[in-house]
Amino acid sequence: MNSVLISGAGVAGPALAYWLRHYGFAPTVVERAPAPRAGGQAIDLRGTAREVARRMGVLDQVRAAHTGARGMAFVNAAGKRTSTMASDALGDSGGVIAELEILRGDLVRILHEATDSGVEYAFGDRITSLTQTDTGVRATFERAAPRTFDLVIGADGLHSGVRSLVFGPESRFAHDLGAYICVFGTTQRDDLDGWQLMHTVPGRTAGLYPLPGGEANAMFVFASPPLEHDRRDTAWQRNVVATTFADDGWEVPRLLGDLSQAPDFYFDRLSQIRMDSWSDGRVALLGDAAFCASPMAGNGTSMALVGAYVLAGELATAPDHTTAFRRYEEVMREYVRRCQKFALGGVDSLMPKSRMFIRMRDFSLRVVPHLPGGARLFGDLQKLASTVSLQDYRGRSLTSS
Ligand SMILES: Cc1cc2nc3c(=O)[nH]c(=O)nc-3n(C[C@H](O)[C@H](O)[C@H](O)COP(=O)(O)OP(=O)(O)OC[C@H]3O[C@@H](n4cnc5c(N)ncnc54)[C@H](O)[C@@H]3O)c2cc1C
Repeated sequence: MNSVLISGAGVAGPALAYWLRHYGFAPTVVERAPAPRAGGQAIDLRGTAREVARRMGVLDQVRAAHTGARGMAFVNAAGKRTSTMASDALGDSGGVIAELEILRGDLVRILHEATDSGVEYAFGDRITSLTQTDTGVRATFERAAPRTFDLVIGADGLHSGVRSLVFGPESRFAHDLGAYICVFGTTQRDDLDGWQLMHTVPGRTAGLYPLPGGEANAMFVFASPPLEHDRRDTAWQRNVVATTFADDGWEVPRLLGDLSQAPDFYFDRLSQIRMDSWSDGRVALLGDAAFCASPMAGNGTSMALVGAYVLAGELATAPDHTTAFRRYEEVMREYVRRCQKFALGGVDSLMPKSRMFIRMRDFSLRVVPHLPGGARLFGDLQKLASTVSLQDYRGRSLTSS
């Protein structure tokens, strides 16, 4: 077993390619976008994922690209802070906001650079069919000539093409969380001083996130039944966001003013991918493609990095790919289940049904950290992120089949 085709050069794909290369495999990564995709939210590297980054030798680069986040505050329509939570209030071991926050685009770039030698990348292409035989998987592509690989891994995100081709339509595995998320770059802001600001009204939240260099991202999340639309129609998506938040106070009108021009616009339905099995023969899924927990989990990127480490390590040490895929699931299942469960609380918190709930949320954010044991309560996310303990696969011998 040697050649591995990976679909997707987001977070999971390059991380898997790194570790496969490390163990002597020949990975090829095919990515639909013409280049590594910039943009997207600030994301947190938590718990075990930091150890994976350290073992990959990229932790210092990740730390250097830290967004400088200092905390999170909810504000009312007049901009007055109703509750705050400092990143360091509970130390590195606790807190909803992790200390190690980085822009998704920066992480994708760092992972791509860490794999630019020894890993074959094909940008601007995608798999169009996969046919499994006893000895390999024949892949056809939109642009490149057909090729046969020993294994194929779908690391192509929430709307995975590999999953659709091999496991069936997305509707069979997607569990709807009843809301949409939108993120885009907004006007330069030097006054945020590292603080994320969020304004909630029943059913929706608008947010402003400081980025390095005085830049800032706007974020909008809103409860809504699924709306009929073409996923590539960004004009329609921008219009839905503008209409939904049209009557809100705080800085919302100004943020909406930047919406139509924002080049790095991200819009998606909040949903989770839940599957009974992440593999079928010689094809397996990784990251959001297999177990998306939604941005509400605050752990999607960490799960992708840890999953890549485990999958590559098991492939390098198991007697065959069937055993490796089974062990990968055994190691990851409980971690994934708990992250997906945690995300459901995030939906309630950012899209509360009533003003009463908003007041209760703000009250608990103000009070709980100061109560005995409060720090532990808020440390749940960090604890969750350390659910998986990493094996030292390097210490185990390589197997080929
Ligand atoms: C542009 C972008 C912005 C994002 N912004 C946010 C955000 O603001 N907040 C948040 O919480 N999460 C965001 N995410 C999701 C977040 O990055 C993932 O939850 C997490 O990092 C898990 O990584 P992943 O590699 O499994 O999936 P992803 O990071 O989604 O990467 C999947 C990759 O596969 C590629 N791809 C998709 N379909 C195909 C195909 N058919 N063939 C080949 N390649 C394909 C995509 O272009 C992408 O590069 C964003 C994802 C993208 C792609």
